Amino acid sequence: MPSASRVESFVAEIDLPHVASGKVRDIYAVDDEHLLFVTSDRISAFDYVLSTPIPDKGEVLTRLSAWWFAQLADLVPNHLVSLDDPRIPESVRGRAMLVRRLSMVPVECVARGYLAGSGLSEYAASQSVCGVALPGGLVDGSQLPQPIFTPATKAELGDHDENVSFEQVAAVHGDELASQLRELTIAVYSRGREIAAERGIIVADTKFEFGRDVDGSLVLADEVLTPDSSRFWPADQWNTGRPQPSYDKQYVRDWLTGASGWDRNSEPPPLPDDVVAATRAKYVEAYERLTGETF
Ligand code: ATP
Ligand code: MG
Repeated sequence: MPSASRVESFVAEIDLPHVASGKVRDIYAVDDEHLLFVTSDRISAFDYVLSTPIPDKGEVLTRLSAWWFAQLADLVPNHLVSLDDPRIPESVRGRAMLVRRLSMVPVECVARGYLAGSGLSEYAASQSVCGVALPGGLVDGSQLPQPIFTPATKAELGDHDENVSFEQVAAVHGDELASQLRELTIAVYSRGREIAAERGIIVADTKFEFGRDVDGSLVLADEVLTPDSSRFWPADQWNTGRPQPSYDKQYVRDWLTGASGWDRNSEPPPLPDDVVAATRAKYVEAYERLTGETF
């Protein structure tokens, strides 16, 4: 396999200046206008990057994002330049994108159409999420009357993102930008969930990141509508009042909080082979169901 799975970054073998590494991606400078955006097979859970990679995950996320960028291109410009540009090194072909280098807006632009995760916890405490008031009587997995914008501030590596209100985003970044982010986030989520629904997948919520181009216009960046950035639920198994089965790290989270005996305060243990295989299969299944293509 040319781009074998591994947890360590690709830093050593890529002959370009290393710009940054996140939990999952390694970023290199190609020139003043372009970055090489390499998605590893690393998987994170409970804010830890695990020591066991999920084979093919990086390629699934890359190809799925590229597919979505094409579906969404008439709504919003995006950062993808190419998946097969000659400047992409052979060792990371398939898992790497040549992208436009943007000045990132440091807001996690989350859209929610259903109640789960931190949205559910906030709702239970205040009947609102990120300052957006919601009707009473909603439960785990309930569909919201309409999609809502629930931004979060981007945390440093190892920290939790923090939910904030629209007003807090506006106070830091101005009313105009906050409104633009909200509008784009809801529009892109709405289109995405419509497309996914036709393929039997509920996009319960998702996170986008936007950046500014040299001319100041907002561009959709990062990964989009993947199992890492979204909650995908099989529509035929949706039922409110309980956690939903999902196309993401469910096996990993269930194993870590259950059979592994992990205490949540130390480095998580390596994943057993069956958890790795089941997780890989979920990522591939999400890709295949959404795109209609065989991975
Ligand atoms: P997580 O997604 O789990 O929060 P992370 O945010 O630490 O992890 P990664 O997804 O591993 O990061 O790496 C992607 C990084 O690249 C993010 O910091 C993101 O803001 C940044 N980024 C995405 N697209 C661009 C772009 N076109 N130009 C510059 N930076 C970008
Ligand atoms: Mg990210």
